[in-house]
Amino acid sequence: MDSYQSLLRELPAVDRLLREPLLEDLVKRLPRRVILQAAQETIDSYRRTITSYTDPDKIPENIDLSPATLAMEAAALAEKNAGSNLKALINATGIIIHTNLGRAPLAGAAVKALNSISANYNNLEFSLHSGTRGSRHDHLEELLCELCGAEAAVVLNNNAAAVFLALNTVASDREVVVSRGQLVEIGGSFRIPDIMSASGAGLIEVGTTNKTYLRDYEAAVADNTAAFLKVHASNYYMVGFTAEVNAAELAELAHRHELLLIEDLGSGVLLDLEKYGLPFEPRVQDSIAAGVDLVTFSGDKMLGGPQAGIIVGRKDLIENIRSNQLARTLRVDKFTIAALEATLRLYLDEEKALLEIPVWRMLTAETDNLKRRANKLAEALSGIFGAAPVSVVKSVSKVGGGALPTAELPTYLAAVKLPEDDMPPGELAEKLRHTNPPVILRLQHDTLLFDPRTIFEDQEAILVEAVRRAYKG
Ligand SMILES: *Cc1c(COP(=O)(O)O)cnc(C)c1O
Repeated sequence: MDSYQSLLRELPAVDRLLREPLLEDLVKRLPRRVILQAAQETIDSYRRTITSYTDPDKIPENIDLSPATLAMEAAALAEKNAGSNLKALINATGIIIHTNLGRAPLAGAAVKALNSISANYNNLEFSLHSGTRGSRHDHLEELLCELCGAEAAVVLNNNAAAVFLALNTVASDREVVVSRGQLVEIGGSFRIPDIMSASGAGLIEVGTTNKTYLRDYEAAVADNTAAFLKVHASNYYMVGFTAEVNAAELAELAHRHELLLIEDLGSGVLLDLEKYGLPFEPRVQDSIAAGVDLVTFSGDKMLGGPQAGIIVGRKDLIENIRSNQLARTLRVDKFTIAALEATLRLYLDEEKALLEIPVWRMLTAETDNLKRRANKLAEALSGIFGAAPVSVVKSVSKVGGGALPTAELPTYLAAVKLPEDDMPPGELAEKLRHTNPPVILRLQHDTLLFDPRTIFEDQEAILVEAVRRAYKG
């Protein structure tokens, strides 16, 4: 019987491990320090295991401490450690704008623009017309104005920044009136009362949680009032005994009192959703037409572009926002501008926008087509699990990203329910998070569910291979 001391003496040293052909070969592809670290970690892990065998009777038979075996483990660890932390993955959840999964995937045109702009010098702040200094804001303003029917536009880091800077510019040390039904929290740490207080604007709450009338706003107007703020509830929905004031009425009241109306639209829709059988959403251009002075929205929600916060509205106000001292701390970089410009250009032709902006392609995917794809996926999965555990079920996809919280888009899912004596579903889901690329899916009632709506067609075969590797090991 071995004692653990004798096992420890058997453990190969790092130098010996590194001379294994597998690791010597790996140096051609991976940094030497990554391999060295992996070899050291592997040996350390074995040493910890061995020293835990304080009772010689409990030492397992045939522990394999050969350099070849340890080298194999070290190589796998090195490969894992050398990979990127931020990875492209397959979203099989059916949630189109998934904030944890990077929100909107970009259109091909946006990716192309990003590539070209990032690899080259560019006219970010240079006027090709005059040959002198230009402004980074000029590349997007005209397009945004045309699409939204606005006088002016400015783009910042994200919509939280847009709301913050708009309030800080027009209402710092003054008061802003908000309906109690709209004092919302939008995931993470974005809460309307908190962002207002950070901006220096005083919050005046009016109405009740479920009902706010025009007269509530009017009664709150005082000497120090700067604006009314209207907020899209985004991720929650009120039903029943409710009342809100629409943008046009509120704008009229604001202007009668020489106040501003600011609207945080959240998602920022430019197309008419009802035309495509989806629930009504106010479009940015509708808010502008209703007389809203400043409208803010995200670039990477329903717009389908990169992370950004867009403000459109009155020219003098936008100019003040641009020249706010804090504007530079929230400004966008050339990558955002490149990707956003390319995305916005697609909207100049609605058909192109629907076809080429992934968010819109997924939103408007035909149910019949999703059914066909779910069947195809199920057939391929049957090749791995056999026919019995695999089925196709009718279900719904979600828009996500705090947009259309009640919308249920009909879809069909490929479903896998393994028998109890097989691999536990949680384990398979976890293994799928570690395949290359990782696959993120829905796990419901011990059933793995794959929604073709958010799986790109060219990912289908890759997904099936990932499932095969995860299951068969
Ligand atoms: C999402 C959202 C925000 C925050 O936008 P980010 O671009 O994530 O900063 C702010 N307000 C509303 C209403 C939203 O829906």
